[in-house]
Amino acid sequence: MLYKYCAERAIPHERLGKLIVATGVAETAKLDMLLKSAKDNGVDDLQMMEGSQAMEMEPELRCLKALLSPSTGIVDSHSFMLSLLADAENLGATTSYNTAVLSGRVGDEGLELHISESKELENHSIGSPVLPQIVLLPKLLINAAGLSAIPLAKRLDGLDQAFVPPAYYARGCYFTLSQTKSPFSHLIYPLPEDGGIGVHVTLDLNGLVKFGPDVEWLDGKMDDMSCFLNRFDYSVNPTRCSGFYSVIRKYFPNLKDGSLEPGYSGIRPKLSGPGQRPSDFVIQGEEVHGIPGLVNLFGIESPGLTSSLAIAEHIVSRSTARGRRQGAAHRS
Ligand SMILES: Cc1cc2nc3c(=O)[nH]c(=O)nc-3n(C[C@H](O)[C@H](O)[C@H](O)COP(=O)(O)OP(=O)(O)OC[C@H]3O[C@@H](n4cnc5c(N)ncnc54)[C@H](O)[C@@H]3O)c2cc1C
Repeated sequence: MLYKYCAERAIPHERLGKLIVATGVAETAKLDMLLKSAKDNGVDDLQMMEGSQAMEMEPELRCLKALLSPSTGIVDSHSFMLSLLADAENLGATTSYNTAVLSGRVGDEGLELHISESKELENHSIGSPVLPQIVLLPKLLINAAGLSAIPLAKRLDGLDQAFVPPAYYARGCYFTLSQTKSPFSHLIYPLPEDGGIGVHVTLDLNGLVKFGPDVEWLDGKMDDMSCFLNRFDYSVNPTRCSGFYSVIRKYFPNLKDGSLEPGYSGIRPKLSGPGQRPSDFVIQGEEVHGIPGLVNLFGIESPGLTSSLAIAEHIVSRSTARGRRQGAAHRS
């Protein structure tokens, strides 16, 4: 869906292909498991290859075996988001920036949303209530608040809290390669690690090479308003790069000392904590929690951007089916 959309809207993208590599004997069985899992999920274009074949494709790579995903690619995410915004506005959407949903309520008349300008939140003291400036009565509320989706769902009065999972946050840092010429033409991924998909090689459309993201669990509790204001710490600690060298050299032994520079970081909204089995996206509608018109999206971490159009289609198809059922009920 994403490739088709990008082609139609002239959004810069490239189908580079990805190699997922096993560098130790114990890892080769995990590659087989990944291949099986991909097939079970309808991904049928992966190709298992011997290390020699993969190293012929990528002379700087060292591995025993590899899985090639030919359909993996990169996209200019900012152009993609601007295009989605333009589409939404052309269809009549209004965007309200610097505005926060503070809480909500499931009343007799349906959903009620309490909203305020973000600047009203800035000087609040923890625990004190923030008064809403606007109350909206939406027919459909899609809680896609990313890192704030769980704290916001906790503030929806009338939603059974048994349906709201615990929130975990994990920062992921990227380091960029200082050399200008990329050593690789494909994306190179090690096997997934606890909490992440492994420190991999990613290339952007300008040819910049980045390694990341690592996994740094954030244990400090964040109050809801700070979360809504996105006051997470996005700084990249340069000392973390020492851990990067050893991990990257397993598949890229020629990585030179001093060649990594701090890049940027992102924070993942996770549904599983350290050492727990990774969890999938959670999309909860009325059929789960019983509240008409409410859709909660929890744990939309990577590959949430890649999946965004499919997630949207999934939600729209459910909402329109519900609308049709209601229409039929009105008519009968
Ligand atoms: C390090 C890292 C690497 C990643 N790499 C990839 C990748 O390679 N491929 C991929 O597909 N995905 C990747 N992702 C995941 C991808 O970025 C996310 O899945 C995607 O951004 C989720 O989109 P979203 O709209 O659900 O949430 P977000 O993009 O987080 O948007 C949520 C929005 O809600 C707003 N908001 C929050 N609270 C409130 C409130 N109370 N009221 C009003 N608005 C509010 C926020 O300001 C924000 O604008 C990566 C993520 C990270 C952190």
